[in-house]
Amino acid sequence: MTSPVGHGIAGLAGALLVPADSTRARLCLVALFVVSANAADFDFIPGILINDFNVFHRGPTHSIIFAFVWAALVWLVARRFSTRPVLLATLAGLFYGSHLLLDYFGSDTRAPFGIPLFWPFSDDYHVHGSAFFGGIRHGVPGDSLSTVVAEVFSVHNFKALGLEILATAPIVLVCWFAGKIFSSRKSN
Ligand SMILES: [Zn+2]
Repeated sequence: MTSPVGHGIAGLAGALLVPADSTRARLCLVALFVVSANAADFDFIPGILINDFNVFHRGPTHSIIFAFVWAALVWLVARRFSTRPVLLATLAGLFYGSHLLLDYFGSDTRAPFGIPLFWPFSDDYHVHGSAFFGGIRHGVPGDSLSTVVAEVFSVHNFKALGLEILATAPIVLVCWFAGKIFSSRKSN
């Protein structure tokens, strides 16, 4: 699976592409898209609460239908604060989907391999198998907190993180540059 940094970089790149009227609006877009790109991994939270970090991870939140659920939640909140709630909800749903895409192309070392993309219509797990990204290790269900912490801060994870940053940094730069061009054309 990809790290929160890798997912967050995908959200950041998207936020740099979308025109924003002010620095505050830009920061809101960055926050929304980075959180959206990581939201599928919120399934760690209930496991943390019962001291079994991984027990619910890679469950239904890693399905396409949850991208629509996330978009609906964002729309409910955004319509109170924004004049473009449908656009924001659509983009938030797409960045939620970017998480599924990156996990699909990531490596996975424990069964069931991959993510349940089509839950609840199918319980099958899907993974591309190319393992383009090295995959972040964070233990397996039933592991103690000390085992999970040791894996999270392992040399393997730092190497995988470095690869993710190297692979995605050029994309951020391209998006930042393209965003500048869009903004200057809009203001001309
Ligand atoms: Zn994930």
